[in-house]
Amino acid sequence: MRLESTLIPKKIRESAKYCHECGICTASCPMAELLFTQYNPRSLLQAIFIDPEKMLVEDSLWLCAWCYKCFNRCPQGLKPPEIFQLLKTKAVKRGLFKGFKEAVKKIRNSIPLPVICLYTCFHPERAEMDSKLFAEALEELNTRRKLKKRKKTAIHKEKVAVIGSGPAGLTAAFDLAEMGYPVTMFEALNEAGGMLRKGMPEYRLPRKALRDEIRYLKTLGVKIKTKTRVGKDVSFNDLWRNEFKALFIAVGAHKSRELGIEGEGLEGVVDALDFLWKVNMKREVNLGYKVGVVGGGNVAIDAARIALHQGAKEVMILYRRSREEMPANPWEIIEAEKEGVSIEFLVVPKKIMGQKGRITGVECFKTQLGEPDETGRRRPIPVPGSEFFLEFDTIIVAIGEIAETTFLPAEVETYKGKILVDPINMKTSMKGVFAGGDAVTGPATVIEAILAGKKAAFSIDQYLTETKNREDTAW
Ligand SMILES: Cc1cc2nc3c(=O)[nH]c(=O)nc-3n(C[C@H](O)[C@H](O)[C@H](O)COP(=O)(O)OP(=O)(O)OC[C@H]3O[C@@H](n4cnc5c(N)ncnc54)[C@H](O)[C@@H]3O)c2cc1C
Ligand code: SF4
Ligand code: SF4
Repeated sequence: MRLESTLIPKKIRESAKYCHECGICTASCPMAELLFTQYNPRSLLQAIFIDPEKMLVEDSLWLCAWCYKCFNRCPQGLKPPEIFQLLKTKAVKRGLFKGFKEAVKKIRNSIPLPVICLYTCFHPERAEMDSKLFAEALEELNTRRKLKKRKKTAIHKEKVAVIGSGPAGLTAAFDLAEMGYPVTMFEALNEAGGMLRKGMPEYRLPRKALRDEIRYLKTLGVKIKTKTRVGKDVSFNDLWRNEFKALFIAVGAHKSRELGIEGEGLEGVVDALDFLWKVNMKREVNLGYKVGVVGGGNVAIDAARIALHQGAKEVMILYRRSREEMPANPWEIIEAEKEGVSIEFLVVPKKIMGQKGRITGVECFKTQLGEPDETGRRRPIPVPGSEFFLEFDTIIVAIGEIAETTFLPAEVETYKGKILVDPINMKTSMKGVFAGGDAVTGPATVIEAILAGKKAAFSIDQYLTETKNREDTAW
């Protein structure tokens, strides 16, 4: 690779020497899977290091969805999204917008929920993109809806049920409705949108964008039954036995893990998803002066930032490993720190302390890192005798979420709060039942949920066509 260009800082040029072009980044990239030959992060990196000047007008730069799957899997620890980001910022500074405009067209033509994705995945604003250009891009993406604004007639008689209305469910419903299937979506909450509505902060995704996508879905004929929890308001078996010929389970990961320590039941100890949901519902939250957030993922980061926006004066994240092991996106961590969130690494809560039923603080252990555990990250080991006390008015617990799967029949295999599927076609162990999104992967990203929804829709169509053909030939 030719690495002499001054467009790329020396540190990154040096790190590029360690890329041995294994292609794992491309193999793990959801955008590469969604766009087939139109996007390949490994080739893009290679091209950048050969001739960065030429790549400033390249649309691929803008097609990275910031999911960090490539970084998480890269054996050399390279961060492709941040390398692309450098060039995007340079392109914006030089007024070179051709690549961005081309990318927006590709997103419009190939990615379901394109407006939602522009806000939550592609982040042109991080390259200091002018708000006028951002607005033009939104307009371009909205033309898709304007062009197709008519009710679709179902051309198939086989009805499909989608359980859960997050990005995985919405995508599957879009694609199946476009193929002409009658689709009914069941949603436990009072409005559709999944984690985009329940958890995601409004500063990242304006709710109007979400409402518009859902309105468009309805024009395609999709029926959305909100306030209908499968397993409570309607049983899984009723759906399966009566009306529907195929089911797609896209229930996300909404069950929070507990710390499992003394004092967890005290007033002032709150679950991160409940806290974010309350804020998104515009309900009153009273956090007090000092807030601690336990966890190191994106939910912990968002909860900490929102706690600051809600008026807490000091917000501290307590994370049991070091910065390198933090699962949150590096970019999000930097943004939180810029806003004033502090992070205490290598600490783990031992006991939540309280008085008169209310939290006063947390007794913590210092930790040291041992051998890697099953996640591949080094295991935090409490250091005996290292206990110390931190005062807090509220503790927000954000140590991970799993799927609530107790409503499923035994034929649908699950493991540790995840539904097991064949990742090629999203088939579960039960015939005619498919699953995808966070319920399968654990907490992940919008673009991964969209890919799962798309694969499931394709697979459901194949399954229903094969079943129909078999029934026809049986005559
Ligand atoms: C705070 C926060 C911020 C995030 N920010 C980002 C971001 O900036 N970018 C990004 O890419 N990703 C982000 N994510 C992750 C992203 O939102 C998820 O990966 C994505 O929404 C998963 O989609 P899904 O369709 O699998 O499930 P979900 O979006 O979780 O939707 C599942 C839906 O199923 C419903 N449901 C559950 N059980 C039942 C049942 N039995 N019957 C009927 N309905 C049911 C739920 O109410 C929910 O509406 C964030 C997540 C959180 C929590
Ligand atoms: S996974 Fe890492 S080492 Fe392999 S090609 Fe991609 S950037 Fe290079
Ligand atoms: S961050 Fe995600 S979308 Fe971007 S190159 Fe890596 S895997 Fe692909």
